[in-house]
Amino acid sequence: RQSRTVEMQVIPYFENHKLLVVRDITELYQLAQIRRDFIANASHELRTPLTVLRGYLEVMIDTPGEHHKAWGLPLEHMETQSLRMQAIIEDLLTLSTIEAESITAVKEVVDVPLMLHQLEIDAKQLGNENHQFTFEVEEALTIKGYAEPLKSVFMNLVSNAVRYSPDGGEIDVRWFKENANIVFEVQDSGLGISQEHIPRLTERFYRVDKDRSRVTGGTGLGLAIVKHVLERHNARLYIDSVLGKGSVFRCEFPVAKS
Ligand code: ADP
Repeated sequence: RQSRTVEMQVIPYFENHKLLVVRDITELYQLAQIRRDFIANASHELRTPLTVLRGYLEVMIDTPGEHHKAWGLPLEHMETQSLRMQAIIEDLLTLSTIEAESITAVKEVVDVPLMLHQLEIDAKQLGNENHQFTFEVEEALTIKGYAEPLKSVFMNLVSNAVRYSPDGGEIDVRWFKENANIVFEVQDSGLGISQEHIPRLTERFYRVDKDRSRVTGGTGLGLAIVKHVLERHNARLYIDSVLGKGSVFRCEFPVAKS
């Protein structure tokens, strides 16, 4: 007999009764698996030819000669675009790895303060703009989770704050405990986002302004990665933003019950 995948939900029903709803989601589950495998395989297959193209491109750029006169600028464009393509492929692979690992990986104690101190050093090199950073980090707060994926959550949110803020903009990063949660928060005083876009920001390739995202080197997958990693930590993302004023991206991790 073929095994089936089901989803169960208990809902209140008439007076003191409860209803157990069992839904067969085998086909849905299999389709999701096929989609995940397809994306992972396609990204892998694209990696190799792109590496070959980039190799030739680098040789052409580094070799002095007549070709630089006519081809200097196009070569630079080709390099920028191939870097973009590489970043998209890497983000797609990251997404499918996160999805595939969700069942098997084991959580470990993650020294988030240490991670954020490293990020503070790296953040200053994220753009060539002069953003003003403050990092307020409660030193003793660690959580149980997955180190590398968490690092990409923090990195993505801080790099978005940089990319969607003007030169000299203030960016505040905080790590603290509040009630039953440990909170990671990034606040910027940048472009902001109008309300109708907010619910869709974590969809793959959803962007408010495609051109801006391209120019600043975005892949359109950053917040999709953030969402998936947070789900694996039972954490929640809250986005609070005012157009023209700035945004707050807040991740709430439940304090582990031990
Ligand atoms: P991208 O690579 O396009 O930045 P993301 O998934 O990281 O992709 O973000 C999706 C979209 O959300 C962005 O294209 C941008 O429109 C919007 N966005 C994300 N972070 C911010 C921010 N801090 N301020 C304003 N808009 C933002």
